Amino acid sequence: MPEFRLYNTMTRRVEPFAPADGDTVRLYTCGPTVYNPAHLGNFRTFLFEDLMRRALRLRGWKVEQVMNLTDVDDKIITRATQQGKTIGEVTDPIVTIFHDDRKYLRIEDAEHYPRATAYIPQMIALVERLIANGVAYVADDKSVYFAIGKFAGYGRLSRLDTREIQSGARVAQDDYSKENAQDFALWKSAKPEDEACAAAWDSPWGRGRPGWHLECSAMAMALLGETLDIHCGGIDLIFPHHEDEIAQSEAATGKEFARCWCHGEFLLTDGAKMAKRVGNVQNVEGLREAGIGGAAVRHFVFSTHYRKQLNLSGDALEGSMEAVRRIGDFAERLAGAKGGTRALEDAADRLETEVRQALFDDLNAPEAMAALFEFIRAANRELDAGGSDVNALRRAREVFAMVDAVLDLVPDAVETDADLASWVEAQIVARKDARARRDFAAADAIREALDAKGIVLEDTPAGTRWKKT
Ligand code: AMP
Ligand code: ZN
Repeated sequence: MPEFRLYNTMTRRVEPFAPADGDTVRLYTCGPTVYNPAHLGNFRTFLFEDLMRRALRLRGWKVEQVMNLTDVDDKIITRATQQGKTIGEVTDPIVTIFHDDRKYLRIEDAEHYPRATAYIPQMIALVERLIANGVAYVADDKSVYFAIGKFAGYGRLSRLDTREIQSGARVAQDDYSKENAQDFALWKSAKPEDEACAAAWDSPWGRGRPGWHLECSAMAMALLGETLDIHCGGIDLIFPHHEDEIAQSEAATGKEFARCWCHGEFLLTDGAKMAKRVGNVQNVEGLREAGIGGAAVRHFVFSTHYRKQLNLSGDALEGSMEAVRRIGDFAERLAGAKGGTRALEDAADRLETEVRQALFDDLNAPEAMAALFEFIRAANRELDAGGSDVNALRRAREVFAMVDAVLDLVPDAVETDADLASWVEAQIVARKDARARRDFAAADAIREALDAKGIVLEDTPAGTRWKKT
């Protein structure tokens, strides 16, 4: 199996990666700030993280992923104040929309979705630890700040020059620029507007609320331990958010906070190039209205490497709709085929090798998709030739299912009842074969793909039965 490699923002190099315990990848992904439905830019990052977890599983590792929901921060409080609501009244409906939207894009469930407001005691405990270690101090207004000058590693992730670090000067807001690399707020004393929208808690320093950066450190360590395998987010989070997460966590524990830092590039909008029939699509609701399915969006996002900028355009989305239609047609044809040829089996072997190579090489999804289309061309040719080799056909179905368990590009149109039934039957056969070969990673990947479509398998003495939930 090819080595699994990832670009680590900390070292600015592509490096071999394996989980510390050799078995389970502890993955922390900074989640949405839930005051507005997430836009497609946010979802580009969440799709890159979905690709990450699926590729890690294809490699044979288990994944334990945390995606936090930031449900208290400056932006949420401003919104609640404007609307005369509590922060909970602002964030609850947005959390529901977030999960609906992410399911539309087939983003798999993370193992944990902690809400920041449920971890206030852990956040307070972390601040107490930092004060005890002499790297945090209580200011006159009873807010607590992190003293960046007292933490030797400050600025390492974002490569700040020591001259840029203004220790002693303070920045209170959650988001700020590199020009303001100052002591940042861990805990903010409550203002009347915080109390008014129920964003204040008791603490050893009086009423107050956590700073945004502190939230992620506390939730990550509470759920995944003091050292994460991978920490992900969009590139805008490198500074200050991740820089501050490192400072808080490492100054408290004395241990490395994350072994690998991965950041996804931005999605850009190009309004001018957007096709009329697609409309000015900015969020998932817009996609739904325009009839653009989750598979097409995944194709669009995965067509560019996650570390390159991607431009949103109607033409590109239309191209992706057409591309996944071809994948869907092929899926249907493969499910209905009666036999294959030796060359079909060779093409399937090639697909498996190339997809693993591409995805394990810093998640090269564009290359994996190119291999998939090359396979579809070759396989269509072989199916035209008509062969009777059932093992070859089985192998083609198995590898196709394995690849689709990662990329998940078969459009919903294929899922009319009859088509769904034949697709599921093909997956069951492929899974049985994978198990017979003791390739449990492949078998698990197939079960995940079925899970994602709401199909539950039941292994009985009479064979495997399935039902749609
Ligand atoms: P937020 O809800 O603002 O905290 O952002 C959630 C995630 O979306 C973070 O990982 C951001 O880095 C990411 N993000 C925000 N805007 C974009 C964008 N235009 N393209 C890609 N990722 C983004
Ligand atoms: Zn975070």
